[in-house]
Amino acid sequence: MRNFVFLIASVLLISCGDKKEEKPLDFKSFEDRFIHEFWKHNPGWASYVGYHDYDSLLVAPTEENRLAEVAFCNAYLDSLKIFDESKMSKTELTDLMMIRDQLQATIWYAEVFKEYEWNPSNYNVGGAFGIIINGNYAPLDARLRAISSKMEKLDAYYAAAKANIKNPTVQHTDLAIMQNAGALEVFGTSLIDSVHASGLNDAEKENLFANIEFAKMAIQDYIDFLEKEIKPTHDKHARDFRIGKELFDQKFKHEIVSSYSAEEIYGKAVVAKAELHGKMFGITQELWLTYFPKEKMPADSLIAIRKMIDVLSLQHCHRDSFQSTIAEQIPELTAFVKNKDLLYLDPEKPLVVRKEPAYMAGVAGASISAPGPYDKYGDTYYNVGSLANYTDAEAESYLREYNTYILQILNIHEAIPGHYAQLVYANQAPSLVKSIFGNGTMIEGWAVYTERMMLEEGYGNNSKEMWLMYYKWNLRTVCNTILDYSIHVNGMTEQQALDLMVNQAFQQEAEAKGKWRRATLTQVQLCSYFTGFYEIMQLRDELKAKKGKGFKLKAFHEEFLSFGSAPVKYVRELMLDKGEQPLAKSE
Ligand code: ZN
Ligand code: ZN
Repeated sequence: MRNFVFLIASVLLISCGDKKEEKPLDFKSFEDRFIHEFWKHNPGWASYVGYHDYDSLLVAPTEENRLAEVAFCNAYLDSLKIFDESKMSKTELTDLMMIRDQLQATIWYAEVFKEYEWNPSNYNVGGAFGIIINGNYAPLDARLRAISSKMEKLDAYYAAAKANIKNPTVQHTDLAIMQNAGALEVFGTSLIDSVHASGLNDAEKENLFANIEFAKMAIQDYIDFLEKEIKPTHDKHARDFRIGKELFDQKFKHEIVSSYSAEEIYGKAVVAKAELHGKMFGITQELWLTYFPKEKMPADSLIAIRKMIDVLSLQHCHRDSFQSTIAEQIPELTAFVKNKDLLYLDPEKPLVVRKEPAYMAGVAGASISAPGPYDKYGDTYYNVGSLANYTDAEAESYLREYNTYILQILNIHEAIPGHYAQLVYANQAPSLVKSIFGNGTMIEGWAVYTERMMLEEGYGNNSKEMWLMYYKWNLRTVCNTILDYSIHVNGMTEQQALDLMVNQAFQQEAEAKGKWRRATLTQVQLCSYFTGFYEIMQLRDELKAKKGKGFKLKAFHEEFLSFGSAPVKYVRELMLDKGEQPLAKSE
């Protein structure tokens, strides 16, 4: 409650102060104040991005706090009207639009989507505590004092959670039970050990040990509630995990921020899938005799493509050289981008390939680890998973999936000129807003776009094999969108989904089952890859048509990346803008 009063007061101060002075408030100061207030409402998110002032806070998900959140958003939406958009720089203007989107989305989530009622996995404190316990941004004693105080708020937190839940889905209930059981481990022996090792005095230690027990009880109580009171009600009625067309359309609008509706993007994905099948069959016909000189090609085109993909997948590196193969490709990709003049890559910021650290272990694959927005000077790593724990059969299956061709495309996507290069550019656009509220569709869209662009420029020597495997990879992106929309809007069943992924997109059964599960637990996010890719390709075509011979690929890439991680829709408006037309307003 105190929190709420303070927020209203500070927002009023902004607008009153402005009216008296008749002088527009400096946008930069406004942003700083907004972000500071925003973190107070979202302390868990703040800890996650490296802003640690509010580590000891834990906002109980009560009705009162939700109303305060909506009031906060409405007050800031009003304050945004102070600024004369025609006089703002492009960077400021995109920031303003992204803040507005964020505030409108928050209101929509609270008032319309109401996930707090039907998704019990919304309530899970493992991550928020884990970041503080495992972080090294502050001395151990200070971090332990913060979590001790945070633990005291867990009772109110879970009491509000239990009061919120109404008719949740079976899938999100099971997920919540699993995740909260995992969260209990955060309060296990390694935490007890660090308390013993800390410099806290005896009274503080005693208090902390009591709070740890208290935290574990609160979490266990929530698990019991879900097991004993919620799950038995699922026999009779449970909410469908499918959110339906109306909510899907709206969530797509808030989360993806595209020029297109969800239905339009779905339609484009269906067309793209048919085109990819056509291209893949064409290549399969051309390659058939080379790989199957004595075998007649199957009449069914999808079966023929599958056979060709299977034979090409046998070309892969040895399990012991997985990391070194990736490490060797990074300088090759960098040299290609440089020689073809595709994008300036800062030689001062080379990408470091490393074996993934222990706390990430367990999942093979590759990912980029970037410093958060409050840690500008941290290093960026390309983490490569180890196959050490795999059996021979598991390693073979994994290596066939990430075969010689696909591994190169993965490196383009994750590293150069994909996510890593985009990140370097984004860090040069000095906007905290774009870094914190970065648009996932633009970020994934860029990485997916670079795969196509690199092959178009001749990466992989234009070999038919490389193109076929690229199309397979791209088909997965396209099918992610088809799946997401079909499952949530058109009622697609698990059997139909598996048929789409395995028989029509040539995926492995295990991968397809994991994707089905992900699609039942999330909504809209799986559309981001294809939507961003489609919009960037289209923007490039528009600019080519407009500039004719004056179009330069490198200049296009560098200008596109210069706006930070803003939605493609806004970048498009700014890049096509001649300085006369007003920017379309998002609503
Ligand atoms: Zn093999
Ligand atoms: Zn990605």
